[in-house]
Amino acid sequence: MFDALIRFIREQYRSEGFIPLHAPVFAGREQAYVGDTIASTFVSSVGAYVDRFERDMAAYTGSPRAVATVNGTAALHMALQLVGVGFGDLVVTQPLTFVATCNAIAYCGAEPVFVDVERRTLGLCPRALETWLTENARLDDDGLCRAKADGRIIRACVPMHTFGHPADLDGLADVCRRWRLALVEDAAESLGSFYKGRHTGTLGEVGTLSFNGNKIITTGGGGMILAGEALGARAKHLTTTAKQPHPYEYVHDEVGYNYRLPNLNAALGCAQLEQLEAFIACKRELAARYAAHLAGSDLQFVVEPADCRSNYWLNAVICESGAQRDALLQATNGAEVMTRPIWALMNRLPIYAHCRKGDLSNAEWLEARVVNLPSSVILPAA
Ligand SMILES: *Cc1c(COP(=O)(O)O)cnc(C)c1O
Repeated sequence: MFDALIRFIREQYRSEGFIPLHAPVFAGREQAYVGDTIASTFVSSVGAYVDRFERDMAAYTGSPRAVATVNGTAALHMALQLVGVGFGDLVVTQPLTFVATCNAIAYCGAEPVFVDVERRTLGLCPRALETWLTENARLDDDGLCRAKADGRIIRACVPMHTFGHPADLDGLADVCRRWRLALVEDAAESLGSFYKGRHTGTLGEVGTLSFNGNKIITTGGGGMILAGEALGARAKHLTTTAKQPHPYEYVHDEVGYNYRLPNLNAALGCAQLEQLEAFIACKRELAARYAAHLAGSDLQFVVEPADCRSNYWLNAVICESGAQRDALLQATNGAEVMTRPIWALMNRLPIYAHCRKGDLSNAEWLEARVVNLPSSVILPAA
């Protein structure tokens, strides 16, 4: 079983050795830029590469402002704080995500509410969101959305663009506008993915990216907050210890965070960003070959939603059953070809088991069936 798939993957990577799920590729000016920071001694919190990385990322995504952070979780923590998420608030998100999405909510003293995803996008479902809100929330005269059960404020909604495939942002934006929820996009996995021509992470009030080692580009560790001018300026202030500009005095006007990205990491990011479009072209070609190879088989290859350009960060298939999923995981990993099941649903983790939730049928269905296939960038042979 799955011998043909394993052979196919080995052919793509031209390797008989261990094939990882996603390895970084450094084929550009990484050494030169990182070397610059060492030569200049500006390796830490001040330096030209941080400014450049933020400018380049704002230009690439079309976001008015881009603020670099130490990691994607910190970026999301700040994004939630920027839209006013505070102690005791509720924040609607999807149960099918990486734990960082929920942890960032918890760092604010808030609590996630789990609403179902769509099978088509693997992202938060606007209809499930509407249904949960209709049954469990009310819109008060002060313009705030509150839980009917206990009056807690439902402040924001955090969809996640799973494996790089954009969620239904028009649908979600419409529900959020009507229910007065701030839309915060966890675009950690979707750098380079566009929804109807607009970069993911730029359609809500705030969006966040991650440059962890396993993402489409990496800074070692790092993240980015995408926002408009006003929230962007405030993000910069909050992530840099809330220090008022002054030539020598230390005046901090609120409890800020030491969340800024070191120059050393930003240098790596600048070199990686220069290669992003080439990486995406490689990934989209690999995805097309997977799709062709699997056409007609009982593994359903996950494709980008209509009107979107996905970065195809992690390729995925939907198995026919949980038993087939287990067989696929065993056969591939046993043959040193790394594959992985999708995350266990967040509502199953003891830390989030007490949280409110709607019907999660699609998330449960996908949880039992989705497997990621090796997805590292394969550069054309020189
Ligand atoms: C990677 C990731 C993050 C952020 O991760 P960091 O490791 O903190 O950069 C957040 N959400 C999702 C869905 C992710 O995949």
